[in-house]
Amino acid sequence: MKNKAIFLDRDGVINKLVYQKEEGIIDTPFSESQLEVAESVPDAILKLRNAGYKIIIVSNQPGIAKGYYTKETFEKIQAKMRQILEKKGAIIDNEFYCLHHPDAKNSRYRKKCSCRKPGIGMITKATKTHKIDIKNSFFVGDGMVDLQAAKKIGCPSILIGNVNSTLTKILSEKKLEPVYIAHDLKEAAEFITRR
Ligand SMILES: [Mg+2]
Ligand SMILES: [Zn+2]
Repeated sequence: MKNKAIFLDRDGVINKLVYQKEEGIIDTPFSESQLEVAESVPDAILKLRNAGYKIIIVSNQPGIAKGYYTKETFEKIQAKMRQILEKKGAIIDNEFYCLHHPDAKNSRYRKKCSCRKPGIGMITKATKTHKIDIKNSFFVGDGMVDLQAAKKIGCPSILIGNVNSTLTKILSEKKLEPVYIAHDLKEAAEFITRR
């Protein structure tokens, strides 16, 4: 028997994106205090778990490589995220992170790896570890790399975003259409569980 899974991107799906003043960019949280889990996420994860899906995070996290924060801070951010989710019974089955970046300031993480999305290294590993039936699973993400990775491995994808956005138009031109576009993970979970 094979398992089905929901592969989740992290930033913009589980936690809110943060405006980083110093850098002038909207990005990942750079500290524990900047991590804010979107309100409806714990319930959405619970709903998906109850529907029999394994919950697996698959996320590029090049912030250490870029020198935005330390490994210790990254681990604190992760611990806080898990704590917020677990308090509501929203257990994450596994987490896969690519910490590399091809132009990293920090040479330890400077690498052209196969795990960084749109590469499929992390999903392949997760699929083997948890014996996942990829066709009956979903990849939920808010970026083009999420949909590219999902397409490469043959997993249906759901975009967290807006139907009329520039990104949606580009995705359509590149034939990277998701099976559904949801406003947030709650809407995605409703779509998945009513099928
Ligand atoms: Mg994202
Ligand atoms: Zn990597």
